Amino acid sequence: MHSQDFSRDVIIIGAGAAGLMCAATAGYRGRSVLLLEHSNKIGRKILMSGGGRCNFTNLHNSPANYLSANAHFCKSALSRYPAARFIELVERHGIDYHEKTLGQLFCDVSSKEILQLLLTECDWAGVDVRTESSIYRIDKNSDGYRVKTSAGIWQCRSLVIATGGLSIPNGGATPFAYETARQFGLNVLPLQAALVPFTLQPRELDIFKPLSGVSHRIRARIGDAAFVENLLFTHRGLSGPAILQISSYWDPGGEVEIDLFPELDLLQWLGEQREARPRADIRTLLSQQMHKRVVQTFCDLWGFEGPINRFDGPQLAAVAEAFHRWVIKPAGTEGYRTAEVTRGGIDTDEVSSKTFEAKKAPGLYFIGECLDVTGHLGGHNFQFAWACGDAAGQYV
Ligand SMILES: Cc1cc2nc3c(=O)[nH]c(=O)nc-3n(C[C@H](O)[C@H](O)[C@H](O)COP(=O)(O)OP(=O)(O)OC[C@H]3O[C@@H](n4cnc5c(N)ncnc54)[C@H](O)[C@@H]3O)c2cc1C
Repeated sequence: MHSQDFSRDVIIIGAGAAGLMCAATAGYRGRSVLLLEHSNKIGRKILMSGGGRCNFTNLHNSPANYLSANAHFCKSALSRYPAARFIELVERHGIDYHEKTLGQLFCDVSSKEILQLLLTECDWAGVDVRTESSIYRIDKNSDGYRVKTSAGIWQCRSLVIATGGLSIPNGGATPFAYETARQFGLNVLPLQAALVPFTLQPRELDIFKPLSGVSHRIRARIGDAAFVENLLFTHRGLSGPAILQISSYWDPGGEVEIDLFPELDLLQWLGEQREARPRADIRTLLSQQMHKRVVQTFCDLWGFEGPINRFDGPQLAAVAEAFHRWVIKPAGTEGYRTAEVTRGGIDTDEVSSKTFEAKKAPGLYFIGECLDVTGHLGGHNFQFAWACGDAAGQYV
């Protein structure tokens, strides 16, 4: 009786985006599914996401939107479960949404609607969802996996780990997935906070802190990765979508190149201004193109002042070069406390890209952010969670 009461075809640990999706898919296939969540709240990151409106996918989603040691890994799941599939689900549940920018889809009303969609699907699929369930121990045996929890000792054929990454530790994040991967001999690649604001060195912070709250459109670049979006000055350093995006490519000690005029040939424009308004102050002119306080700060920093007709060709070129190629060396990042995601994670070579089953541990699956697949900002992280949740759900 004991084993009958406490056995399920599938146990999924972690009721976030990937776990909920996997649970519903497996449930619809007629599998008995137990979804265990250690916190008292399901889908906390879904609720927090997109400023409370959940940027649930992106119309332009493609494998190019992901960082991973194996760029090909995400292709199979994304092609089987593209953004259109989730959009269709959202529409079926009558959730109104809109495109904000760059293909990013947000709920019109609240991210609660996306969580409710997933809970409804789980309910219809007969999933047994339990919160406040701590996992103490996992053992492999001849029948699959034995999971010792605060809600009893459970036996399952398929065990899915969907406990996410390390970001927002006070929101329930734990290293459980990485520890479980190591327990079964899987390689875990180095972890780092990503989609995260930069902090600045004290000297630079003194200079830029007064601009806190001001944003400006830039191009942020590291190597081949470049993003044209807004930069936001903060009281700790630099944030805004362009900075969050490039932070995923940054390694401690590295530099970031920022073009403060990504859509303007500044040298040509300044030359034209020198012809048209020779006596105008260079700061007044630049203020036509960027926030006055930003102009002031950079011109103070680089010593650019006076009427533009006092700048000869090389001097004007130096002004243009300075604004087009501002190189910063961040002190660090704000870390997991504010990061949206964790870069790195379980080596994708250890997992099947078709089923998400661990090659070294049959019956054990890893899905979602715990894998070494990190999406760009803009709905790509949820899209990967939906896609791999659905993929694993077909096989567990
Ligand atoms: C503030 C914020 C905003 C974001 N906004 C967006 C956005 O708009 N669009 C987008 O695409 N992405 C966004 N993201 C990223 C996105 O939330 C994640 O990539 C996504 O939630 C990952 O899904 P997951 O299922 O792998 O993990 P999660 O959604 O993090 O779910 C993991 C679940 O496992 C539980 N868990 C953890 N440890 C244990 C344990 N030991 N035992 C049992 N349960 C455990 C957690 O409590 C959690 O419920 C945002 C992230 C943050 C932090």
